[in-house]
Amino acid sequence: MFVIFIGPPGVGKGTQAKRLVDEFEILHLSTGELLRAAIEAGTPLGKKAQSYMDQGQLVPDEIMVDLIDRRLSRLDCENGCLLDGFPRTVNQAKSLDHYLFENDRRVDVVIALTGDAQVLTERLLGRAKIEKRSDDTLATIVRRLEVYHEQTEPVIEYYRKRSVLRIIDGMATRDEVYQRIRQAIWNVREA
Ligand code: AMP
Repeated sequence: MFVIFIGPPGVGKGTQAKRLVDEFEILHLSTGELLRAAIEAGTPLGKKAQSYMDQGQLVPDEIMVDLIDRRLSRLDCENGCLLDGFPRTVNQAKSLDHYLFENDRRVDVVIALTGDAQVLTERLLGRAKIEKRSDDTLATIVRRLEVYHEQTEPVIEYYRKRSVLRIIDGMATRDEVYQRIRQAIWNVREA
């Protein structure tokens, strides 16, 4: 089963994803985490990605598509995965469709978490203090929210045309959000 998580920075995608992974025993692929690991390891990919990330910009599509295609071709993704942070542009979504089609697969459900920009900015600033992520400064937070609006929200429209999209209010309590996501996934599983 291929599940996609879309949502603005700070809405809680990572936290919810980890909980789902425990319950559904599905592989969690976070492109943000893959990129941070590449930076940490000092790989060529990490070097290319870092400046974009530090500025709150998206890493170019061709780099991301190559990264995700290579990752999805590994055996552990055979039964699907939870994609957290990919696709973030319509081009990425089209490439993913193409890749899955070529491999006789499809996206089963897209969970779009929505959130209020002001609340998200405050949350991200709070997280910056705890996690010391280099892309959690006020300027980059504002930029990332703008980038989300400009480049990632159109991805929701892209999936809206199909029956796979579920929009969930990410501002409800963490447990409520989780229960709604869980229900959306069960509905697809049982269909
Ligand atoms: P995240 O941890 O998902 O918030 O991602 C952190 C940063 O990694 C983003 O602000 C982007 O710079 C980069 N990134 C992660 N996923 C993608 C993607 N699918 N496309 C482009 N850039 C990405």
